[in-house]
Amino acid sequence: MFIDGQWLEPGPSFEVTNPANGEVIGAVADGAKEHAAAAIDAAHRVFPAWSTSTAYARAEVLSKAHQLMLERKQELAELMTTEQGKPLKASLNEVQYAADFLRWFAEEAKRIYGETIPSARADQRFLVRYQAVGVVAAITPWNYPISMITRKVAPALAAGCTVVLKPAEATPLCAIAVFKILQEAGVPDGVVNLVTAQDPKPIGEEFCTNPLVKKLTFTGSTPVGKKLAQDCAPQLKRVSMELGGHAPFIVFDDADPEHAAKGASLVKFLNTGQACISPNRMFVQRDIVEPFVATLEKRVAVMQAGNGLQPGISIGPLVNEAAVSKVATQVEDAVAKGATLHAGGQRLTDDELANGHFYAPTVLSQVTPEMLIYREETFGPVAPVIVFDDYDEVIEMANDTHYGLAAYIYTQNLSRAMRTFEALNFGIIGINDINPTSAAAPFGGMNESGLGREGAREGIAEYLETKLGGFSI
Ligand code: NAD
Repeated sequence: MFIDGQWLEPGPSFEVTNPANGEVIGAVADGAKEHAAAAIDAAHRVFPAWSTSTAYARAEVLSKAHQLMLERKQELAELMTTEQGKPLKASLNEVQYAADFLRWFAEEAKRIYGETIPSARADQRFLVRYQAVGVVAAITPWNYPISMITRKVAPALAAGCTVVLKPAEATPLCAIAVFKILQEAGVPDGVVNLVTAQDPKPIGEEFCTNPLVKKLTFTGSTPVGKKLAQDCAPQLKRVSMELGGHAPFIVFDDADPEHAAKGASLVKFLNTGQACISPNRMFVQRDIVEPFVATLEKRVAVMQAGNGLQPGISIGPLVNEAAVSKVATQVEDAVAKGATLHAGGQRLTDDELANGHFYAPTVLSQVTPEMLIYREETFGPVAPVIVFDDYDEVIEMANDTHYGLAAYIYTQNLSRAMRTFEALNFGIIGINDINPTSAAAPFGGMNESGLGREGAREGIAEYLETKLGGFSI
């Protein structure tokens, strides 16, 4: 753990394992409530100095962290693959994405402009300024173990906030590597603090109830996000929530089914389906279902599962056994209720895969609303295809979820693309595009997929308080 500029001496610890083979790859400090409280105290103590440092000084530190992260891209990516399981190429892409947030928010720090507003009174002037909200508590997930940290820490630091972060218990080593970079980049003692813990609950309780914490930013599942938001409510702490998704992927019959299926397979099986913006329901118009499914099947047939450090691997392990059984349950339920299985549909246990948490990339068609997979976030390598006939029907089906994070549309018809973009209740929509994300673009969900946005100018606003001055002259 890193508290008030010090790496804590080893005390109680917990093991970290490689999900591809079960090997123990490290042990990290098992933090308790009092560590969270000490970290919050440190962050509170240094807040006045950090929040009144110049935007140029804060930008300088973030730029240096950006540079260090890129210099260490390869080693960070190897660590990520070993700890989290995604193929090395995907880890390299994630480190780049993570570094992008450091640079973007280094630049944005200098653009926290205020406003002057005309008054109806001749002797009055209104001045609006934006200032840092205070100590920020952050909780991040394991599926994007480096970029989810920089997406929070970079805007918080740029705004002038101080931070206490609790990373996911499955990926604390990536978090430690990021904090070493922040320390080396010159972030002053106490401005960023890291509390690792095997049991997240006591840390979460301290974050939500300690009055020195002014904001909680969370990325993870919807049930945990709701619980934390409830716990923050008595003190009316600000919250940002990046939660689960259940993304529709809509392919209209004027689209090229093979091109759409290629896009679908690239985004669906990325990170073995463990992404909040992963397509979870593939709605394909009746006339083109056959070529769409055939292309998916062909692409899945050549995907190789294994340890992501080896060349040619495109399917890494799932995070743990619970994830494997959730996927297996959804697939078995769908098949029992009449879905057709075109590929996969089982756990992978050949040779060295037996020691990891592998599930075969799977394609299902004839998926219907009675099936679990139609309603639940899968977070695994399953592409469920659902047939639709007309426009109104597909919009209704796509919006029929309490989630609202990402959606995808494939069509060559511009007005249909625009109408669908406007009709879908989702925060991020790819139109003939499978990667609608960037440090410069607002990321976040509607409905029970979250509150607030990360990245873009919206991302820094989440860490700023609006202050109005009315001057009588
Ligand atoms: P999770 O909610 O179980 O865990 C996320 C984080 O919350 C971890 O750090 C965990 O330790 C912590 N946590 C869990 N219970 C807690 C508690 N009671 N108090 C305090 N902290 C607690 O989620 P997960 O299964 O690890 O992650 C997957 C979920 O995250 C999926 O639903 C996915 O869609 C979502 N996700 C969303 C985004 C987004 O930007 N919207 C990005 C990545 C992941």
